[in-house]
Amino acid sequence: MKKLLLLTSIVLLSFSCQQSSEPSNGLTKSEYALVIHGGAGNMSIESVSPENQDRYLAKLNEALDTGIKILEENGSSLDAVEKVINILEDSPLFNAGKGAVFTHHGTNELDASIMEGDKLNAGAVAGVQNIKNPISAARAVMEQSEHVLLSGDGASEFAGLVGLEIVDPSYFFTERKFNNLIRVLESEGEDTSELQLKKMGTVGCVALDKLGNLCAGTSTGGMTNKKYNRIGDSPVIGAGTYANNATCGVSATGHGEFFIRYAVAHDISALMEYKRLSVEQAAYEVIQNKLFPVNGSGGVVCLDSNGNYAMEFNTKGMFRAYDNAEGDRIVKIFKD
Ligand code: ASP
Repeated sequence: MKKLLLLTSIVLLSFSCQQSSEPSNGLTKSEYALVIHGGAGNMSIESVSPENQDRYLAKLNEALDTGIKILEENGSSLDAVEKVINILEDSPLFNAGKGAVFTHHGTNELDASIMEGDKLNAGAVAGVQNIKNPISAARAVMEQSEHVLLSGDGASEFAGLVGLEIVDPSYFFTERKFNNLIRVLESEGEDTSELQLKKMGTVGCVALDKLGNLCAGTSTGGMTNKKYNRIGDSPVIGAGTYANNATCGVSATGHGEFFIRYAVAHDISALMEYKRLSVEQAAYEVIQNKLFPVNGSGGVVCLDSNGNYAMEFNTKGMFRAYDNAEGDRIVKIFKD
């Protein structure tokens, strides 16, 4: 009997050792990893000129290199996410920071959020018009205020007080994005959903650092021709951004109203937590099986705590990039 008990405990012990050392879902385990999106939309290989494809790919590569270097040199996932998003915000190519789309009244109103997966700390800003890098303001809200979400003039006042760069609103003017607004206004009354979809370009990043901490961030100009100080999903924790070391980090892009109503980023985390789905399965379930049937267009990038990624979208394309400690680099725009 004693022998039997001993044997049983040896078997149980070896089983639990195997369980804890095996990466979740039998996939890979990487010391650090980073995934980026630059917006999802119905862009086709024919609709983006080869020169523009090169420009987008070069910027995604630059952002990816910067983030990976930070992680490789023992930097935090928080620093990596902020710096990666700063690069994309400073580029006129993407719908965030310098490249933000225009509201109905020809202004720019920017939203951003950031979340850390260890303590579930989060910060966000919404509807800001003069903060050069909204993701840095979101980080400041998380680290230097007792709040999670600040909006409008109050958010700008706070950003100024903590020393962030405040710019004249004209900094956000780009001819390309202004022309998009004109085109949407000219076609008002017609179905502009296709046009709207082509114009998405929110940016987001999720990183896993060597300490095992996940961080996710998202920054956007919202949707062209938005009215009434409309705010999308990007600054809403649980909708456009979420991070939890126990499950995953998520950054979303797409038709924000759907992402808010379906609590997309948190839903992916919840599927992993309660149903034990892998990050890929959870992202697929929400983007393809929940959002697609109701015309909720867009996508997500996610990382689990082992550095496994999901880059799931139900549009024709999504600017996206991934790399990890092993150098499993992916940089893509269109569906495979
Ligand atoms: N999700 C953003 C919003 O609705 C837009 C986008 O991702 O393109 O504000």
